[in-house]
Amino acid sequence: MGTRRTFLSASIAAAAVASTGIPAGAEQLGDRGPGKPVKPQPPDADLRAILREIDHQRIEAIVRKLASFGTRHTLSSQDDPVRGIGAARDWIFAEMGKWANENMKVELQSYIQQPAPPRIPEAVRITNVMATLRGSTSPDRIYVVSGHYDSRCTDPNDFTKDSPGANDDASGVAVSMELARIMSKRRPEATIVFAAVAGEEQGLHGARHMATQYKTAGADIQAMFTNDIVGSSTADDGTRDPRTVRLFAEGVPTAETPAEANIRRSVGGENDSTSRQLSRFVRSVAVNDATGMNVRVIYRRDRYLRGGDHIPFLEQAYPAARFTETNENYAHQHQDVRVENGVQFGDLPEFCDFPYIARVAKVNAATLWSLANGPGTPKGVRINTSRLTNETDLLWQRGTEPDLAGYEVVWRETTANDWTHYIDVGDVTKAVIDLSKDNVFFGVRAYDKAGHRSPVAFPTPQS
Ligand SMILES: [Zn+2]
Repeated sequence: MGTRRTFLSASIAAAAVASTGIPAGAEQLGDRGPGKPVKPQPPDADLRAILREIDHQRIEAIVRKLASFGTRHTLSSQDDPVRGIGAARDWIFAEMGKWANENMKVELQSYIQQPAPPRIPEAVRITNVMATLRGSTSPDRIYVVSGHYDSRCTDPNDFTKDSPGANDDASGVAVSMELARIMSKRRPEATIVFAAVAGEEQGLHGARHMATQYKTAGADIQAMFTNDIVGSSTADDGTRDPRTVRLFAEGVPTAETPAEANIRRSVGGENDSTSRQLSRFVRSVAVNDATGMNVRVIYRRDRYLRGGDHIPFLEQAYPAARFTETNENYAHQHQDVRVENGVQFGDLPEFCDFPYIARVAKVNAATLWSLANGPGTPKGVRINTSRLTNETDLLWQRGTEPDLAGYEVVWRETTANDWTHYIDVGDVTKAVIDLSKDNVFFGVRAYDKAGHRSPVAFPTPQS
């Protein structure tokens, strides 16, 4: 129960937001620090046009088609033309192939997964379907969105029983495919990869192969998102939240080295991983009237007892996060299709909310298009700690984008969860800010001539 005292301080914080535009959490310095309040980045005309093209009827058709293959279990038939994962793979490949062109290549990425008991009892071919839309000016900078097209029933190794997998995860595959269709007609500045992967339910195998291939090739993956279980807005108690999607973003990086852990402990970077910066970016570009959605960021890698295809990318130190519906219904996931005591179990298309999946697709589209048309995340961002001062010395490398226009230093109170202030420092590679690095967190982001921002890079100390 709130006391009068907590009520009053909450009102004061709310009044402060209303009058200054500076979110709560900045109240320790109020608006006394340098810079202007950070604001969301509104969608431009191109992005609004993309969002309008996202079609819930096409998404519904994709989900129903994928469910019609009976099972898409990773160990199911690879050559039956109508039932099993091979039929699903061939259909996705053919469908994405319709949108292939000189800028967008659609391909199968296959490998033989060696036995990995208990869920891979013998060697099996695993195939990812990937559509790569090559960037016009920064093709080496890559953003990946994926869903998994394999499915399962109650027994994780039963590859014969029906496993429609409408929500888990035809919904996520539908997001990748619908965005591939719409964006294939356009040309982003950086490269976007739309993927449907397999082997997720057997141990994240397809995504792990993809992430490892990228790492081996030295690919500059600046963000990866998996959409997994984004199909329903209804909780198991019947309540609905059709305007929110969760985004799981880890704090302490999965791939952190002991040296990086030492730095994090000493400067307090546990809330400033690349995935957390990405989650802040998503909220800044995808929570607006054009998507009609709120993004609820969850500060953990994934839900209890669960994992997803973002994890293999995190293992390779790529920034990655997971979209998932707000309220899950466990009677509709990983369940044999059956009726028990009058209750229908199973992951059936009838439990999906297709306009909801379309709005999740809009959140993804706003995120990917803004990332791929803005500058890349600044690299080599350092905070100079060679001398003790009450100022802050920041330095970074200049990006290579032809439309790069400059940089902003952002900062926030150490107790705030998102950046509150920005200082436009222009087209430079260092800045001295009259604010002590001991008392706030700093970051650096780039902007282009059209005003698109990059995600924020969190500096590491350099003495
Ligand atoms: Zn899943």
